[in-house]
Amino acid sequence: MHARVAGFSMFHTPDTATLRLCSVLASTAFGLVFALVRFGRPIERQFIHWSASAFLYAAVLIGFEAVRGNLLLIGLMLGALAATNMLIVSGLRAFDGKRPFRAWMLAPVAGCVAAHVLPTLIGGPGPMTSAWTHAADTIGVAISAGITGGVLWASGRREKSRARAIAGFAMLGYLPGYAITLAAYAWSAPGINYLALIPTLSDQLLLGVLNLGLLAIPAERAQQRLRDAARRDPLTGVWNRAGFERHARRLIEPGAVLLAIDIDHFKQINDLHGHLAGDNVLTELARRAGAEVALLGGEFGRLGGDEFVAILPASRAANAQACANQIHAACRKYAKGMPEWTTSIGVSQIGANEPGFQDALQRADVALYRAKLAGRNTLTA
Ligand code: GH3
Ligand code: MG
Repeated sequence: MHARVAGFSMFHTPDTATLRLCSVLASTAFGLVFALVRFGRPIERQFIHWSASAFLYAAVLIGFEAVRGNLLLIGLMLGALAATNMLIVSGLRAFDGKRPFRAWMLAPVAGCVAAHVLPTLIGGPGPMTSAWTHAADTIGVAISAGITGGVLWASGRREKSRARAIAGFAMLGYLPGYAITLAAYAWSAPGINYLALIPTLSDQLLLGVLNLGLLAIPAERAQQRLRDAARRDPLTGVWNRAGFERHARRLIEPGAVLLAIDIDHFKQINDLHGHLAGDNVLTELARRAGAEVALLGGEFGRLGGDEFVAILPASRAANAQACANQIHAACRKYAKGMPEWTTSIGVSQIGANEPGFQDALQRADVALYRAKLAGRNTLTA
């Protein structure tokens, strides 16, 4: 030991007590951060749950040291440990605008208490019971971590959220540690003290990843919303020019159908019925035509004023005319109490060797111009 260079002392076997103290301090720090963030932003209710989870986790780690040997108290500590996992789920639910607490969340908590107490109640104290109790403890806690990790991971896939996936990944990362512990009990491995280190060691890594992942979830969503808002037309909610350019990309290939759509004599609608009525016409047209285009697997946007644009996949090229007629018909379904309007549409297709839709859109515009000259309320290719 003395021969070792001082710099390598970090490779000395750390003891579980010290590691646990590190976890207590780290978890307390995250609990404080969550509480302070919540304090500054009262609408972020999920941080109460996450703060409570982090503080409770620290308390449970201290508690395990204090209640050594007491069957029921250890059982309660294990239940509290499962509760820290369920608080993460309830926070996530609050963040998603759902009711945070559901009855099923009690099951892992009660399960962990029962798993610890039942073997002794049934079999009485003894070495065999003790082994069963250890195994049941590990399985109970692993199930509760698995549920939370699974919920986080699944919601990450659903919401396309990397932060949720990271937090879920960290939670699921505890499972191998539990599996190793379980295997060690099963084989009564001689190096069991060594193996017991693995969960406490992995906690040093996973605790940070988990809580930083949670912390990033709201910021990530705010960023997603901002990005989305910048690509949407505020009046109609359909893509604006930037949004359309981005989302049309996936459909750009020879044969894709471009439609330039423009309301006829829109100025008159504004003049005769007022600007608000004009706005309503734009919104109604965007809603109906947008829904029709979505059904056809295309993208729809507002380029500005009363000009709209749609792109349909190349698979629709064979019946482009029929699709355009369908959209033209959808544009003319007026809602009750609104001024009547008509639209003109110019249709074109992306040609071979065309890298984007800009040239095709220009041709659609020329076709639109001809539709206007031909007396409006018509469709020209
Ligand atoms: P045309 O048949 O040749 O298309 O005639 P038009 O009257 O529709 O002519 P144009 O397309 O040039 O008119 C666009 C008008 O749309 C001009 C502008 O006052 C109006 N407009 C642009 N943006 C908005 C908007 O957000 N709301 C309302 N109500 N009107 C708008
Ligand atoms: Mg017009």
